[in-house]
Order: sequence, then C-alpha cells, then structure tokens
Amino acid sequence: MAKEQLTPMMVQYLNTKDEYPDCILFYRLGDFYEMFFDDAIKASKALEITLTGKDCGMKERAPMCGVPFHSASVYIAKLIDKGYKVAICEQVEDPKTAKGIVKREVIRVVTPGTIIDEALLDEKNNNYLAVICSSAGKFGIAVSDISTGEIYTTEVETNDMVMNEIARYEPREILLDSVTAKETANDIELRFRVIPDERDDEFFSDENGESIILKQFGKQNLSELNISGRYASIKAISAMLRYLEHTQKSGLSYINTLTSYEVNMYMDIDMSTRRNLEITETMRDKAKKGSLLWVLDKTKTSMGARMLKQWVEKPLINPIEINKRLYSVKELADNMMLRDDLGAILAETYDISRIISRLSLATATPRDLVSLKLTLTKLPELEMALSATKSPILSGISKNFDILADVRNLLDTAISDEPPVNIKDGGVIKAGFNEEIDNLRLAMTDGKKWLASLEAEERQATGIAKLKIGYNKVFGYYIEVTKSNIKDVPDTYIRKQTLANCERYITPKLKEVENTILGASEKVISLEGYIFEQVRQSVVLEIERLKRAANIIAVTDTLCSLAEVACRNNYTMPKIEEPGILEITEGRHPVVEKMSADTMFVPNDTKLNTDDDRMIIITGPNMAGKSTYMRQTALITLMAQIGSFVPAKSARIGVVDRIFTRVGASDDISSGQSTFMLEMTEVSNILKNATKNSLIILDEIGRGTSTFDGLSIAWAVVEYIQNKKKIGAKTLFATHYHELTELEERLEGVKNYRIAVKKRGDDITFLRKIVRGGADDSYGIEVAALAGVPHEVITGAKKILKKIENDEITTAGKTDIKEEAPQNQIGFADSTANEIADELRMLDVTTLTPIEAMNTLYKLVNKAKEI
Ligand code: ADP
Ligand code: MG
Repeated sequence: MAKEQLTPMMVQYLNTKDEYPDCILFYRLGDFYEMFFDDAIKASKALEITLTGKDCGMKERAPMCGVPFHSASVYIAKLIDKGYKVAICEQVEDPKTAKGIVKREVIRVVTPGTIIDEALLDEKNNNYLAVICSSAGKFGIAVSDISTGEIYTTEVETNDMVMNEIARYEPREILLDSVTAKETANDIELRFRVIPDERDDEFFSDENGESIILKQFGKQNLSELNISGRYASIKAISAMLRYLEHTQKSGLSYINTLTSYEVNMYMDIDMSTRRNLEITETMRDKAKKGSLLWVLDKTKTSMGARMLKQWVEKPLINPIEINKRLYSVKELADNMMLRDDLGAILAETYDISRIISRLSLATATPRDLVSLKLTLTKLPELEMALSATKSPILSGISKNFDILADVRNLLDTAISDEPPVNIKDGGVIKAGFNEEIDNLRLAMTDGKKWLASLEAEERQATGIAKLKIGYNKVFGYYIEVTKSNIKDVPDTYIRKQTLANCERYITPKLKEVENTILGASEKVISLEGYIFEQVRQSVVLEIERLKRAANIIAVTDTLCSLAEVACRNNYTMPKIEEPGILEITEGRHPVVEKMSADTMFVPNDTKLNTDDDRMIIITGPNMAGKSTYMRQTALITLMAQIGSFVPAKSARIGVVDRIFTRVGASDDISSGQSTFMLEMTEVSNILKNATKNSLIILDEIGRGTSTFDGLSIAWAVVEYIQNKKKIGAKTLFATHYHELTELEERLEGVKNYRIAVKKRGDDITFLRKIVRGGADDSYGIEVAALAGVPHEVITGAKKILKKIENDEITTAGKTDIKEEAPQNQIGFADSTANEIADELRMLDVTTLTPIEAMNTLYKLVNKAKEI
C-alpha cells in the first residue's frame, strides 16, 4: 500500500501496525477503539460486530470496526479467548493541545499468557505463559504468571519430559523456538488446547541474555539464581523477560524472584496419569468437581486456592519437606480453635498477589489500595494467632513476622475508605493527607455556600421570590427567572438562554464564584492523581515485603484447607518412609467416597513392598471395584506426598519418584483415537522410565487387541516389570485375563488378589472387598444380566458357555466358535425381529404424541441393534 496517498492518521496507524503484525491493533479514536483492514475483518467476525468503512485517502474505503473504550475489556476478553493478541494503542497527548495529528503509542499488549485484568482472570487458577527452547542438547523451560509475579524455570532432556512439565502448568500461551517447535508443536496443540507460537532465532538470541536476567533479579552472578551453566534455562528466561517487556511496556520490577528447580525435586506424573487419576479435573468434562483438587480445596482465599493447586500439581519427593507440611497440617487439624480463628482472619483478606502486580504495572485502582490496606490490617491478628504454633511451617512464619505497619499507615492516612473506582471521579485522597487538596476542597464547599447566599441576596435585591441559581454543562452557573417576573430583572443581568417559560442570566459576580468552584475541582482532581501516583510508588518500593505477606496468607490458607478436609473426612496422617514400603490399612478412594455419599464406601488394605509383594494382580468381574481400588492406592500415595492427610485408618508411605497409570483402551473414554497404538506407546513409556521406586497402575492393558495378543503382551509386561534387574517397581495390575493368575506360582514378588463377589443362584452381589487369591470366575454373564441385557441373550450366552466348558467348542480352534455362534445368533435375531414386528403392529400411530413416537422408535432401534 502506498502510504503517500493515505491520510496522515492512516499513515500513523499503519506505522504502528507494522510494529505489531501478530496482534489486533486497538487504535484509539475519541471514545472508541477502531480496527482497520484485516484486523477489522477478523475482529468483526470474532466479536460479531458490524464491519463498516473509513475514508483513508485511497479509492477504496478501509474496512473498519470499533468498540467503545469503556467496555473494551469485554471485547478484549473475547479476542483473547479465541487466541488473538490485542495491542492497545492510546492517545498519549491531549488532543486539545496537540499540534497536527495526536501522538499515539501502544501502551500494552494483551496476550492469553500475560493477562493482568482482574475481569479476565480466573481467581482460583494461575495464568501461565511458557517459553520453551533448546540449547546444548537440553530443553529450557520458563514459566511465569505475571498477574502474581511468579517465575519458574527448569531444564529437561526429552520431548516427553517437556510435555510432562507443561502438563503441570497448563499454560494459556506457549512460545517455542524452531527446534522445539519441530518436535513438540503438534503434540502441544493436540493435548493442551493451545496453539503454540513459534518464534524466530532473534527472539531467542543469546545476546545480553545473562545481563538481562541479572539486572531483572538484582544479582551479581547466575549462581545466586541457581542457573549458572544452565544455558537452555538462561535462554528461555531471557526470551521471556524480553517478551514481557515488549507486551507490558512498563516496569517488571515486581518479578524479582526466580525459582529454578530440578524436575526430580517433584514427583513425576506424566500427562496421561494426571488425566487418569483426575487430579485437578475430571476426564470426561474437564470439571473441577469430581477431581482430587475438588475434595482438597476448602481454601478461603484465591491465593490459597492457587497455592493448593500448585502443591497438588507438584507433589514432593523429599521426606523432610513432606513432613514439614504434614506436621503443620497436624497442628491445625488437632486445634479446631486455631483453625477457626485463622479461617475467620483469612476470609477477610483480598488477593494481594494480584493487587501487587497491578500496582507495579500501574493499573491498580484506588479500591485496590483499600483492599490492600484491609488485608494488611489483618496481619497483626494473623501474627497473634500463629504466635503459639509449634509445627515447622507455621512457627517459621510466626518468627520474623512483618506486619507492614508502615505501609498500612500510609494507605490508611492517604486513601479514602470508600474511594471511587476511577481517580478522575475525585475523592480518592483522604482529608488531612495533603493541605493543598484540603484547601481546594474547602474552596469548593465555600463556593457552594456563596452561591446559596448569592441566591438569597439577588432575591432580596430584585424582589423575585422564585429566582434560582442552577447549573448546566454548556453555560455553567446561571440565574433563572420565570417569564412572569422578567420585568423585575435588573440591567446588570446578561441574558444567556431563553426557554419556554423562563429566561437564564449570568452576572459578573456569579462567574467569579463559578471560576473558583470549577477551577478548584479541576485542580483537586489532577492533584489527587499526582498524590495517588506518589502513594503507589512508595508502596511499590515495599514489594518484596508485600510478596512475603501474600505468601504467608497463601501457605496458611493451604495448610488450613488440608487440615479442614482431614477433619471433615476422617483422614489420617500418613507415616512417610524411605522408598519401598506402601502399606495402607482401610484405605478409601477420596473422590468416590464423596461422590456417592449415599452408599457406604468399603475400605480396603494395600500392601506393597520391594520384596515379596511387589506386584499385585487383581482379577474380578467388571464393576467389582478394581479400578477404584488401584486409583485409590495411587491417590493416597500422591496425597501423602503433597503433605495431605489420607483417607485411611493408617498408612505407611515410602515416597515414590513417579506414578504411572495406564488404562486399557476400552476404559479410556475420552481420548477417542485409535487407542491400541496409544496404549502401547504409553506402556512402552512406562517400561522405559519406571524405576524400582515408582508406583505403576495397569488397568486392563491389552484390551485393545485380540485376546491372544493381549494376553501375551500383558504376560510379558508383568514379567518385565517384576524383574528386579529390569524394573522391580511396585505395581498394581488389574486384568480380565485369568491366565495371569498363574504368574504367582512362577514369579517371585507377584501376589494374586481378587475383589470378592457373592453368588447366590444366578444373582451376584459385589462385596467390594479385596482378598487374596485369583478370581474363579469372571461372572461376565451375571454382570450382563445386572446391566439389563435381555433375558434371551443371557440364556443364550449361558448355553454357549456350557458348551465351551464341556469342550464342545474349543477355544483354541477359533473356527468352531464361529460356526456355533452364528447359528445361535440367527436364533436370537429371529425372535428379536419378531418382537419388533409385534410391537410395531400394536402401535396406534394416530394417537401417538411426537415424544411418545420418538421414545418408542428409540427403543425399537436399540432392540434392532441387538440383532
Ligand atoms: P472395575 O474396574 O472392577 O470394573 P470400578 O472400580 O470401575 O470396577 O467400580 C465400579 C463402581 O463400583 C464404581 O463406580 C464405584 O461406584 C463402585 N465402587 C468401587 N469400589 C467401591 C468400594 N470400595 N466401595 C463402594 N463402592 C465402590
Ligand atoms: Mg475398571
């Protein structure tokens, strides 16, 4: 496009747009943000707003659409949600005083991973941006939440590990370098519902990386940050800082701590295990309700809710660290009074983590400062409540407790208790804080008093009893006299406006008073803005102390939540041991017992170790409770390593380095893809990565293929895992292949268990109890009957089973089955077809309502499917 022909405004627009090619540019024009050209076309579709045009100097009008500036955040939210980035371009000069075209600048770029607007954030979830790149044969990962000022980094070796780390955070925005993109972009898009953004080499340039980082975190050398020699990490962090600066355009001073960790500091939970165990969301509908986090979250603050989620996503490995948490939870669980006191205090705090970020980025409102003050006001009570605690974390907090009295005092004296949202509305600064503001306000109220006395004086002088002083935006203050009294108006009045039944006048005296009042109110507003900014800056200087206070609130809340949950649900404190042992007495599934509160949950024991009880093979009919039992063992282990009490009578948990779960193809409802391949990929992942300190849950693997293939694979997998030289990990293996029970005899460390079932005649009852020994029968036919499979099919199945058992059909010679089965099927088909025909004949179509017709048809179609 030839810019010469364009209007100056369009030239300015296009120059700005050139700098932000990947964003939708919100260009401020008066009371609107306008979008042009491609942006307008995209945005009008995404936002469902009208596309119009604007003369731009060329023949064709430029496509244009716009949104009102005061409701922009709603539209921005929509665009962000659809994966767009939005660059906000504001007028940076006063249009009244500007010469030529008003200067405009992009003041912020909003991207999915860098949101700070409260309205766009979910209070209980962190909002993460991730940067991943490769260097020196490793992947560097940096993750930040700028709404809370957190930043984390680690390095990993493989693609799989990259995916597993991302799964911990579920970032909203992911930036990749070209190498990483080649290997992981597809997977990321497929699994995380985020389209990764591949950036060029310049974005990841090594230049100045180190000094950018050192400057940001105020350090002399990288070892103070734990990242010396970690080139991939350094590359990722420096790229992230550059990106944040590019998008935020203002100080990132509040991002002043960096957490660099080794992946093996936390329990490794791969992506499909996270999903299978439903740790933070359910598999089926991705809801929090029904997940482990849902059971554990009784937090009273958003900061606590986010921290609890982080704990759940990063279970610990180090027994000392785990015990610190457990003993703190215990102290709170044992002391209901303390818990209640803390709960009451916490409930009155605000999300100061996010307020702090908004303060640093200068988007905080006066009300944010009041929320901050109210929160700080609670700190002395919090200190008091914690002062007598003895457990490691709590007593640690209560030592050196900083109640931030200076900051609280400043806010209390400077900011009104109930300020408006907008500084421009006035009344933000408290009386007594600034003399000039007080004087100006006095002038304003005095002015109003003068007006009242002026009105009285004029009435007296003119003898017009109904004379009034009024105000409108166009003429300012005026004297109003009704038509009938005009004859008494003195010559000194200057007529300004004539209305239907009155006239409006001004006088020099009136204008004088007006100038004082209006002048003062304008001055007050600008002075208030200035003082507010000063207060903001002084508070920002104390950011490190404020962040510590935020952290104290979050940790206390998280521990209280775990204690509360422990008491309400009758959990017990697990005993943390060195790796190897896993002994749970009367364990329960934390979620299932909550979800089906009307049925009694039957507790079960688990005994696993690295010797005789390494592998448990569980057989039993469908629906007996195998999956539930295995998951409960995994969840109890996980909970213990989070620092939570566990649903059991007692538990000895040797820390595990990883938990793996693999659920057989047909049980895996949500993935919906060719599952046998996926199943085997994941089995191979387990076999490659499990160690003797891992916990493995295999739920009916081998299902996705033919019986004999499946059985052989399952058999070989058991042998491999059981072998101490290969893996020797603690394993729970549920299977419908009864042949596997033979392994107990053949391999050491393997034990058979089954879920007890009571059979009376043709009826079976699930007892939900796990007992030693293999299942004698799969009860498949009985379960089918329970599920409501038609009687004829059940009897048919029984006949075939009899024949198989009597060797009339040999399972080895598959052809025999094929020949037998169709004959029977024809029998079923005939009778079912007859039934359908009968039902159709009986129908009276003329009297059927549409709904009844639908229902009947649905029933018949289902019947027909059985044929
Ligand atoms: P399986 O894997 O053997 O087919 P599941 O573990 O899926 O069986 O359990 C089936 C249902 O039985 C679960 O949805 C749950 O409601 C119930 N259940 C399982 N274990 C128990 C238990 N210990 N106590 C009570 N109900 C249970
Ligand atoms: Mg199952």
